[in-house]
Amino acid sequence: MKALIYLISLLFVGTSQAYAWEAFYVLKPDELRFSKAATAFSQQAAPTDCRARLKEIACIVNPIQDPKESRRCQPGSETMAPALERIYDVIPAKLQQTFCSMQVIFIENDTEVLGYAGVLTWDSNSQPKGSFMGLRRALLEQNYDATSVIGWKEQKAFGLTPPPFVHLPEGPRSSIVLPNSLSALHYVIVHEIGHILDFSNKANDYVCPAGETCDPTNNPDDFLKMVPAPNSWSALSWQSPAKPKESQLFPLWSKLCFYDCKERLGIADMEEFYHQLAPTDFVTTYAAVSPWEDFAESLTFYVMSQHADFEYEIQTPFATHNLKTKWDGLFAKKFWMQDFLNRDLKYPTPLK
Ligand SMILES: [Zn+2]
Repeated sequence: MKALIYLISLLFVGTSQAYAWEAFYVLKPDELRFSKAATAFSQQAAPTDCRARLKEIACIVNPIQDPKESRRCQPGSETMAPALERIYDVIPAKLQQTFCSMQVIFIENDTEVLGYAGVLTWDSNSQPKGSFMGLRRALLEQNYDATSVIGWKEQKAFGLTPPPFVHLPEGPRSSIVLPNSLSALHYVIVHEIGHILDFSNKANDYVCPAGETCDPTNNPDDFLKMVPAPNSWSALSWQSPAKPKESQLFPLWSKLCFYDCKERLGIADMEEFYHQLAPTDFVTTYAAVSPWEDFAESLTFYVMSQHADFEYEIQTPFATHNLKTKWDGLFAKKFWMQDFLNRDLKYPTPLK
């Protein structure tokens, strides 16, 4: 599991977040620093009452100035709880339970991203020692709809940088209806919970191929030599942590990039990109980025698809791609996810 930590640090340390819309992290316990006024924690909910915990762990913060500094939760952080509770009340119980082991939900006053999630490094029982989540404050306060927010993010993959949360006419047009017409926050929170459940249950899991020696702890490049563990989520569509299986690869995949990109898709690639993505098992553009995003996006589709009113379409000038219909046909992934959610899921070790 250390290998995973390495890869994630490699991917995200020092990357520009200008084009990022969300991310995931693995931190050492002493790297998660925040402080809240003592009174706010004095009546901390018992770890079994995950809903009551939301107002305890909501923490409005300004951008990080110095990574070594403790982040101060601003007064009024608990006023963010109702927006979180509205989402909590409509997600499956096994997702709700994630909040019992969460130390903090950072509600970011000023950030480029929509959200992020992470866990604290693994304990001796190979369980993460806790988890955290971060959300863009505007998503909690302004009830933005999913079409605006997720569609804005989609356009970034093609090098467009519209102001939040605007669609430019030259980019792909998303049209998304979430269950009960809830806001984009619903999608973002379920996606981020997906990362935490992935890490604490090893949905994505890698082993050293026969005949090779892998020492990713001392040589992070070795992680890229590893192959999906049998029956893991990774084994469905990926040949290595950084590359899809041959059957899932498509020519424009190499230009798909949201973070710190050497190369990026452009508007001229748009029609062909969606055409090439369509026959793959990646439910969304973002799912094709990495095994971890594949899992988080697929979990989100699984959860949303439990409701008949969920819709997700992307339009280009010459085609319409219905991603809800696509998900309905991705049987291997759908059944894997169903089995996963029927498991006795593990959660990061709840903290006092
Ligand atoms: Zn993600």
